[in-house]
Amino acid sequence: MCRVCGGPVRQFFDFGRQPLSDAFVDPDRVDEEYFYRLAVGTCESCGMAQLLDEVDRDRMFHDAYPYHSSGSVHMRRHFEQTAGRLSGEHLRGPDPFVVEIGCNDGVMLRALAKEGLRHLGVEPSGGVAELARLQGVRVRTEFFEEATAARIVAADGPADLVYSANTICHIPYLDSVFRGLDTLLAPDGAFVFEDPYLGDILERTAFDQIYDEHFYFFTVRSVQAAAARFGFEVVDVERLPVHGGELRYTLKRVGRQTPSRAVAELAAEEERRGLDTPEVLDRFAAGVERVRTELTELLRKLRADGKRIVGYGATAKSATVTNFCGIGPDSIDWVCDVTPAKHGKLMPGSHIPVRPTEALTEPYPDYALLFAWNHAEEITAKERLFRESGGRWIVYVPEVRVI
Ligand SMILES: [Zn+2]
Repeated sequence: MCRVCGGPVRQFFDFGRQPLSDAFVDPDRVDEEYFYRLAVGTCESCGMAQLLDEVDRDRMFHDAYPYHSSGSVHMRRHFEQTAGRLSGEHLRGPDPFVVEIGCNDGVMLRALAKEGLRHLGVEPSGGVAELARLQGVRVRTEFFEEATAARIVAADGPADLVYSANTICHIPYLDSVFRGLDTLLAPDGAFVFEDPYLGDILERTAFDQIYDEHFYFFTVRSVQAAAARFGFEVVDVERLPVHGGELRYTLKRVGRQTPSRAVAELAAEEERRGLDTPEVLDRFAAGVERVRTELTELLRKLRADGKRIVGYGATAKSATVTNFCGIGPDSIDWVCDVTPAKHGKLMPGSHIPVRPTEALTEPYPDYALLFAWNHAEEITAKERLFRESGGRWIVYVPEVRVI
């Protein structure tokens, strides 16, 4: 049943039993892992793509949540530019107030905090919330829902802007979020959020965007349908070239602003592409099976030839790839990552050891499987010596290739 409208949901892919994507494992606690069924479908009434099973939020977002938004130079720049844009477009009135849902380590809000703007981050993961505080950001360590919004209004008054990046798609209970927005936003206030775009996921067969934390896979049309249920409408959309393709949506209460042409144009394009039709979703499913076959065959062949292979980026996305394709320490020696909290641990489910990125050095491995393909440009530039020493990158989005 659809988590937004209660309509029937048609499954289009089942990845089987999966671990939590950000639950890195202590080598001496491998038998304590939690698994769930990862399957994805689309609502036949409102078109919202969503997971069929919901993982309890406290299992995913807690004090030890290891993802840091400011881990990539490229993403830091993206959020600094975003802060400037938001401030210029939505925070021009007297004493404006901005709230960010899921502020992580404060990478966006710290820029606004520096300007002295009234702000508040809402972040349930205590570890990253503390990092935000160290950057001078005001944070409430809790989940955002209707009751949270009421407490914020009581303490700080209404918000001119509520912003969120890579978080709204994490929240199954959208009804409570929208009621919270209705409570929190000033009459003309805007809700701006950005998340991975289903249109890009389908086009690139980027099936690794599907994991426990990504509950929804939005389109303009599915967001329009959801917003309309709570008195909001999409007034602008913008494509973003981050995290493998995202959309930024701007929502206001119905009738407050004439929707831009971009909204109608992208909605029409989605209709033309049939993003919620069984034909298109089944074609995606066939593409996923093809990538699995080609990737496992390539790794098997390279290992048979005695090649040394490592992984690059112990991303949440990589959990779906390794566990769905059955890739383990027998084909990949280790995976390197910039996040200190992951070092010395094992990848969820696959139990491939995680090392610092400094591990990628002489003697270089023959191949590196690029799990963090969304940061390909930044990483291949940084690891230029690996390539110059004869090392090759393996990518699997949009297709399996050696570069
Ligand atoms: Zn629905």
